[in-house]
This record gives sequence, C-alpha cells and structure tokens, in this order.
Amino acid sequence: MCDLCREKLSHRFAPSRRTFVVGATATIGMGLTDAAGAKESSAPPKPQNVLSPDAALARLQQGNSRYVEGVSRRHDFKHEREALTAGQNPFAGILSCADSRIAPEYAFDSARGDLFVCRVAGNFANTETIASLEYGVAVLGTPLILVLGHDSCGAVDAAIKSLKDGTTLPGHLPSLVTGVAPAVNAVLQQGGDTLGKAIRQNVIDNVAKLRSATPILSAAVEQNKLKVVGGIYRLKNGRVDMVA
Ligand SMILES: [Zn+2]
Repeated sequence: MCDLCREKLSHRFAPSRRTFVVGATATIGMGLTDAAGAKESSAPPKPQNVLSPDAALARLQQGNSRYVEGVSRRHDFKHEREALTAGQNPFAGILSCADSRIAPEYAFDSARGDLFVCRVAGNFANTETIASLEYGVAVLGTPLILVLGHDSCGAVDAAIKSLKDGTTLPGHLPSLVTGVAPAVNAVLQQGGDTLGKAIRQNVIDNVAKLRSATPILSAAVEQNKLKVVGGIYRLKNGRVDMVA
C-alpha cells in the first residue's frame, strides 16, 4: 500500500471523539458517510466513474459487449497514467480467478483507474480479498463488486478431484481446495455437470459472503451504496453471463 493510500485509510478509520461514544459499528457507518462526503468535496480523478451501482453494472456489461464483438476501444495509456497520479476512483471491484485467460480489464474493455481487481485461483473471498474490497468501497467509493468465475476453472476442478478421491494436494494448494470446498460439497451429489455446477455455486456463495461481510460491505449494501453481483466468463466467446 502506498503512503497516500495508507494516509487516507488511517484518516478514514481514525477514532474520533464520537467513536468512543457510539461504538465500532456506527464508526464504520460514519466512515462510509465520510467517504461519500470526501467524494463530493474533492474532484475525483475520473468523474465518469462516479456512478450508481446499477449504472456501474450497465457500464461493465456494455464494455463486455464491445469486447465480445471485437470492437474494444483504443486506450491512451500515456495520458491515463498522467491523469491518475493523484488518486483513483474505480467504478467496480472485481473478484476474479487468477486464470490467465480471463483478464478483467480486457473482458470489460476498461482503462486504468476503472477496475479494482482482486484475483485468486478459484475466485473465492478470503480475509485479504474482503479487506481489499472493503478498501475499494469505503475509501475509494466503489459502487459495485462483481464476483467473476469462468468455464473450465482448474482450481474448482482440482478441488472436486481432491474432495472426491480424498487426496491431499501438494504445497499450499490445499488452501484453494478449502476455499471452494463449500460450493463443491453442495453440488457433488447432484450428478450431471459437476464442474459447471460447482463453478456457478462458487460464484453464488461468494456473492452472498461479500454482501453479508460485516461491518463495511454489509453496511454499504444496506445503504444502497453498493451492489454485489456474480457472473461467469465464457471462454468460447468472452461473454460474461450474470448468475447472481
Ligand atoms: Zn479458474
């Protein structure tokens, strides 16, 4: 985390006089209010990214349509870079698989400063990714989070095989199995396309987990400042189908 971010975060959640009176939960609520206020009082580096949750979702989907159709915009990286030296206000947070074929910035035809992307094989929310997304929402004012799974996910497939056979994967890989195990276990006995069902269930489970993640994300959802949705990237044509 850079010095600027650290300073903003510590300021946002620094105990105030009222904090000691009203307690921790209300403090977070105040923090979110402060974040909104800060957005209004200082010019955001990308004014076009100040969107409602629904408008942010529409913009993601429009970007994906351009990507699918092969008409992605040409991005001027040089001037984008210069414009963002003072800050960021991404319009969407993405929790994506680490799979090299996904690339959220391409899939939604977006530029620098647009997406706050957290990636982990199996696209499940752990403590670190929840904390990162909390930062995006509470400090940067991000109005939308998308959990993005994809076809033929190797992490989910490995978890299915490990849980089915009772084998333990080498190294740190068991932590990925643990991350997607709830979704795999929920569909394992259903038969049919176990991999496809587990990928979908994993997205749905993690959308629910982020929506209810107390105290920051759940409060933002309750105040209609944040929407959490889920989609699956189709490898064949690049389309993202919404599932939650
Ligand atoms: Zn994957």
